[in-house]
Amino acid sequence: MNIDLLKRLCETPGVPGHEHRVRDLIAAEAASLFDRVETDAMGSLVCTRDGEGEDPERIMLACHMDEIGFLVSHVTDKGFIHVSPVGGFDPRNLFSRRVLVCTPNGDLKGIMNAEGKPVHIASVEDRKKVPEPTEFFIDLGLGAAAKEKVRVGDFVVMDEPLVEMGERIVSKALDNRIACWLGLEAVRKLVDDGVSHKCQLTVAFTVQEEVGLRGAKTVAYAVKPHIGIGVDTTLACDTPGVPEKDRTTELGAGVGLHLKDGSFIADRDLTDEFEAVAKANGIPFQRTILAGGGMDSASLQQAATGAKAIGIVVGTRYIHTVCEMIDRRDLLAARDLLAAFVAAH
Ligand SMILES: [Zn+2]
Repeated sequence: MNIDLLKRLCETPGVPGHEHRVRDLIAAEAASLFDRVETDAMGSLVCTRDGEGEDPERIMLACHMDEIGFLVSHVTDKGFIHVSPVGGFDPRNLFSRRVLVCTPNGDLKGIMNAEGKPVHIASVEDRKKVPEPTEFFIDLGLGAAAKEKVRVGDFVVMDEPLVEMGERIVSKALDNRIACWLGLEAVRKLVDDGVSHKCQLTVAFTVQEEVGLRGAKTVAYAVKPHIGIGVDTTLACDTPGVPEKDRTTELGAGVGLHLKDGSFIADRDLTDEFEAVAKANGIPFQRTILAGGGMDSASLQQAATGAKAIGIVVGTRYIHTVCEMIDRRDLLAARDLLAAFVAAH
């Protein structure tokens, strides 16, 4: 598999509203795979492969480009940086993190920590307290000079490399650069295998999903798909301390057919068709429901006069942390299922 592309996608910084670097990377890869590659007003990258005939069936994939992160909200006179979160961080995962503060003049390495005292002098009460994400700050090690280098609105990401661990892949931002990878690699598989399709295929690399499925709304309104497929991570809580009924997916057990979350309910016929395509092609899959949360599928389903929609997901352990973990066999199953579904249209 093209692990180099996934590594570059994960390690490229891009938070909601600041996805431009990820978009540039994807646009370069997409140029040879699509008939048209355009950027819409909100910043989503809309890649189209034309269909056959007068009014071909329109199938749309939504693969969000943004990762959870922060925007700089204030720089103190001493050079400490306060931040405003963009996306749902669990503050328990934010202590003592290496971060990258991304500015137009270059990226600055920093340390994120919570306001308060170290363990040696903290009270019992201090040690029990979990701060809000807004109670974390960044130290660039530059002192007051940070004020000259960082502006309010500059963006911040976690600074961790992708690592391979056997069949498992660990990185920040697997949510949702795996979908960016899938949107490119599923089409590359069609091209490499010489498989044609009748439908008009749009792969939209969307913006601002993590703050409310925003970018997918405008692209879906423009494309007006008949079939909308949100591509994303979902939970894999097949780990200690979580009851089996809450695991959502099991790592390594196949691509997820995402049937429901807090934002949408998948179309019954479309679900049956995906299941039939998976079975016909020997692709392992698991049906899955997420108790809360949301994904771009909801925006595709409800755009204009509506679309049949489903989520195609890859189970991810430790989601929304710097050590998100997937199984590469699930990722390849997702690629193969998306390619087989498009080939059948
Ligand atoms: Zn996501």
